[in-house]
Amino acid sequence: MQYYSTSGNAPKTTLKDAVVKGLAPDKGLYMPERIPAIPKAFFNNIGEMSLQDIAYVVANTLFGDDIESETLKQIVNETLNFDIPLVHVADNRYSLELFHGPTLAFKDVGARFMARLLSYFNKKSGTKDVNVLVATSGDTGSAVANGFLGVPGVKVFVLYPKGKVSKIQEAQFTTLGKNITALEISGTFDDCQALVKNAFMDSELNEKMQLTSANSINVARFLPQMFYYFYAYAQLAKMGKPLDNIVVSVPSGNFGNITAGLIGKRMGLPIKRFIAANNRNDIFYQYLLSGTYNPRPSIATIANAMDVGAPSNFARILDLYGNSHDAISAEISGCTYTDEQIAETLKETYRATGYLLDPHGAVGYRSLVEGLRNDEIGIFLETAHPAKFKDTVEKIVEEEVVIPSKLAAFMKGTKSTIKLPSTFPSFKKYLLSL
Ligand SMILES: *Cc1c(COP(=O)(O)O)cnc(C)c1O
Repeated sequence: MQYYSTSGNAPKTTLKDAVVKGLAPDKGLYMPERIPAIPKAFFNNIGEMSLQDIAYVVANTLFGDDIESETLKQIVNETLNFDIPLVHVADNRYSLELFHGPTLAFKDVGARFMARLLSYFNKKSGTKDVNVLVATSGDTGSAVANGFLGVPGVKVFVLYPKGKVSKIQEAQFTTLGKNITALEISGTFDDCQALVKNAFMDSELNEKMQLTSANSINVARFLPQMFYYFYAYAQLAKMGKPLDNIVVSVPSGNFGNITAGLIGKRMGLPIKRFIAANNRNDIFYQYLLSGTYNPRPSIATIANAMDVGAPSNFARILDLYGNSHDAISAEISGCTYTDEQIAETLKETYRATGYLLDPHGAVGYRSLVEGLRNDEIGIFLETAHPAKFKDTVEKIVEEEVVIPSKLAAFMKGTKSTIKLPSTFPSFKKYLLSL
């Protein structure tokens, strides 16, 4: 299958090139040229299938032309070596717990798949090492670093703002060693992102080394996220629930996660409608109201992985719906919550049900409390484990949050970073010295 750019000024390309390049040369985002349908019969006994088997069918439908089935099966099985359970919270509301992977957030799925796909292409064509540059405000860096750890033919450079990520987050990408290098930048997250963008645009660097991005602009990171939407459906089927009025709420920042779900629906997954749940960075919500897209600088919230002022995957949503505001509004609704509302939901849900949300999941959960009809079944994506936001969550529920052993293990490692200023020439000099 070929991939085209949403900007329309770049030639179509192969899956391999789309993955290796990340962004299209015209700065557009790659999209599959066809959205293949999954046969209806697949859904008849989906409740009996495992996560890995479901994911393989979906992966094969998308990538089957480009990767031999045995290899694809292996990539899927290695990616999904943890469960993604659907847990009942209250009434007709369910949590899809995406935090059982190595870094306890949903980004593990896309990062682990992408690492293995990149390594496969690299081995197959015997090209030089691929260098993955990733700017992080916390969560992306840990998922990508751990997803790529020890994967042959790939080196990862995680750029993060010195002193601006939590201790737990920092430990998840500065203690790994092997093919992972943490670059501690004296600056902000925006500075880190600008360094990465400048590197991709620098012709001398691109001639000397193969650079790619592991943000959700990369098709190999964002498309595999649709696997678990199918698995959520399967779990409702297994529970014997009605399957014709399913609503999925997705706590959204860069909109990679929800876009994968929208494409899953287009492939035939029977989800009735989606909710894009925002914190105060509500650019998409405002778009739904007004029909105009006005990106603006992000503001800091307690659901900080969603503090995005210019959601990069918005271009994919426009493309998917032929730029039609009506078509988008027919399938996706929005909402926006303040920090006070997020905290209130987290606290009240814990009190009433015993279920401890993280601040991102709380945004999704609240949208179901407010926006679900009685005849609908609502699933919200619980995108990270509450312990990843220990200080925030403890302050809200006034109780200690126990750190799972998987997370605690990172804290025991030794931090190792390379300190760099936020200026591009010094970053470039560093890369060229490798
Ligand atoms: C990245 C992230 C999000 C936002 O996901 P997008 O795909 O960028 O919309 C939500 N919650 C958590 C915990 C995240 O790490």
